[in-house]
Amino acid sequence: MTSITLEHVSKAFEAPFGSDKPIPAVQNVSLKVTSGDILGILGPSGCGKSTLLRLIAGLHAPDSGRVLYDDVDLKDVPLRERGVGMVFQEGALIPHWESRKSVGFFLSLRKRDVEIPEKLKRISKITGIGLNQLLERKPRQLSGGEQQRVSIARALARDLKILLFDEPFSNLDAKYRHEARVELKRLLNEFPVTSVYVTHDQVEAVALSHRIAIMREGQIEQVGTYHQLYTSPHNLFVATFLGQQPINLFQGFVIDAHWRGVNFAGFPMRRDLEEGSKVTLGIRPEHVRLDEGGVECKVDEVVPYLAERYQHVTVHAPGERFTLHVPLDHPVKRGDTLRCSLDPDEILLFDASAGTRIG
Ligand code: ATP
Repeated sequence: MTSITLEHVSKAFEAPFGSDKPIPAVQNVSLKVTSGDILGILGPSGCGKSTLLRLIAGLHAPDSGRVLYDDVDLKDVPLRERGVGMVFQEGALIPHWESRKSVGFFLSLRKRDVEIPEKLKRISKITGIGLNQLLERKPRQLSGGEQQRVSIARALARDLKILLFDEPFSNLDAKYRHEARVELKRLLNEFPVTSVYVTHDQVEAVALSHRIAIMREGQIEQVGTYHQLYTSPHNLFVATFLGQQPINLFQGFVIDAHWRGVNFAGFPMRRDLEEGSKVTLGIRPEHVRLDEGGVECKVDEVVPYLAERYQHVTVHAPGERFTLHVPLDHPVKRGDTLRCSLDPDEILLFDASAGTRIG
């Protein structure tokens, strides 16, 4: 297996017609993917995820900076020796071949046909009976999801050093996407390979990756495990981007080294912060508590999450709206009055103008 290193990599595309400004797709990105790691790249549409993946694959050359495989500059690694497999949104299979031939093609090319049945057997075993049946068919006889399975099997049947995925399951419906993810996870456990996985679906990134890089406007904002990113975001962008439900944000000020907002107040802050400076307090809905001595608020909306055993409740207090989790055994309905406080151990404080974390 191979490690991947990016050192200050930038890539811009030519200015569109009528403009003299190039499009900066990736800007000064430094990143390390250790051997055998699965790194998810997560970010909004157009933030540069696919361009970054193509730079890692060697399909784009960086304008500046270097991409290294095992400490060797990619431009010095001959194409044949790179051992990179890519799985895209569309399976990219060869139309008139049956899938079995497609999967075994790279091994046959290297005169290693004898390994094909053995590898296919292992891959088929992990994927269940599905793949075995699919292998007899040509791409037009396969659904989108099936084509993806064959593409992934083809990538794994090769002796790859690096596997790159660009939203491979985004065309599949939700149920099938879940199955495909579980299957891919099992395959990657069985055939470990250094992988980079691009997606804008955080559930997918969490399910498949060991670590996640959050990207915005061509730059990496933060890299870490999902737990690190979720509980300790470096800035407001990461805090608001992650989470199945949006984080609550309250605007306030520093008064006498404490945070004070419209309804909530009294959280101690760093002493070096300027009196009166604007600070945004972030808290996730699961950390807003029902509290007899808390702030009075009115319930606007209740959404039950039966499997997770809570209700996601939207409330308002004077001038502010926020959400909290209420256990299912505490019935709540629109118009009810609740009293809430914020768990002081779980609040996140951000400089309101720069968005950087300050507490
Ligand atoms: P999505 O999630 O929508 O696929 P992305 O995060 O993968 O987006 P990229 O496809 O890498 O983003 O695009 C980054 C920026 O570069 C965008 O502004 C895009 O319009 C631009 N871009 C990408 N490819 C090209 C190209 N070949 N020529 C010109 N501009 C491009």
